[in-house]
Amino acid sequence: MKEGLCFDDVLLQPQYSEIISRNKISLSNKLSDDVVLDLPIISAPMDTVTETSMAIAIRKESGGFGIIHRYNSIEEQCVLVKRSFPGLIQVGAAIGVKGDYLERAQELCSASVKVICIDVAHGHHVLVKLALKNLKNKLPSHIHICAGNVATNKAFLDLASWGADSIKVGIGGGSICSTRIQTGHGIPTFQSILDCSVSANQTGVKLIADGGIKNSGDIVKALAAGADFVMLGSLLAGTKESPGDIIPTPATAIGMSSKRMKIYRGMASKEAQRDWKGTTSSQEGVSTYIPYKGSVVNVLDDLEIGIRSGFSYSGAKDLTQLQERGKFIQQTNASCKESSTHILDRKEI
Ligand code: IMP
Repeated sequence: MKEGLCFDDVLLQPQYSEIISRNKISLSNKLSDDVVLDLPIISAPMDTVTETSMAIAIRKESGGFGIIHRYNSIEEQCVLVKRSFPGLIQVGAAIGVKGDYLERAQELCSASVKVICIDVAHGHHVLVKLALKNLKNKLPSHIHICAGNVATNKAFLDLASWGADSIKVGIGGGSICSTRIQTGHGIPTFQSILDCSVSANQTGVKLIADGGIKNSGDIVKALAAGADFVMLGSLLAGTKESPGDIIPTPATAIGMSSKRMKIYRGMASKEAQRDWKGTTSSQEGVSTYIPYKGSVVNVLDDLEIGIRSGFSYSGAKDLTQLQERGKFIQQTNASCKESSTHILDRKEI
């Protein structure tokens, strides 16, 4: 039986480095002819992650890219896109593969999106095939079409042959995801990246690693394993720019001192499904409160510092070098403990 490795199962071996300054490292990568990212981070199209404020902040302040979620009417989504674009900010927007998805995509293109993202839980599907075919025929040729999510190399190859310009890789790994519990299906995101990177290299289709990325170390591992970009949900949620109110939580409610919180929820959670379609089907996500983090710009700054440092440990001045030089080792459970800060676990302290 094939083994599936996750981010915590591996480490990158430090390499001889001639990087004198981490500021000399280039993190930039091209998503399309139109869209170049200076920071390879894309914010997830979720209703507690990306609307106008997130899309503007991540693009303007950090050089990443935002994808506006689709859990609204076409008009509402277009307003969110237009509010970003007058600030001359490039944005993407998500669509599904049923109902009015084609009309939605066409309206979003009229509202000046640069990227249309087919955002469904199981991307290796005939409806994605049909949607890609329709979109390729009907949308202007300069529109970049991202599709996903997939978890296997076969699926990556199929979506590439169906016309996807970039593909989101990762099924069941998201922090708010219960797909693997509910359905028994999924592949650790790190393993999926490793597997799909073979086809990403062959086809030139961009690989976006999505789900389960917890820190800058995971981002470096994802990039070294073959991802061009990472998509983040939980790391960017709970910020000033993520949609939703700040909720002061009474001390008694969570058994600790009072904290400011925001909601972060899976789009297949009971709560999100009720809000956007009024009913629930398979519940494959959860809704939770997470501590309020302040501005996402500071979060992204911290991530960028960690990523730059990671490139430096591999002696890599850019993504191409990171992927050439990056050497993974598998770690044991004991080394996994050593790899996290462990002084607080010691009994004698
Ligand atoms: P995170 O960065 O680990 O929080 O994962 C975010 C990713 O989880 C998103 O980009 C989606 O691919 C995925 N996702 C969002 N909502 C759900 C859900 O309800 N169930 C399963 N996966 C989800």
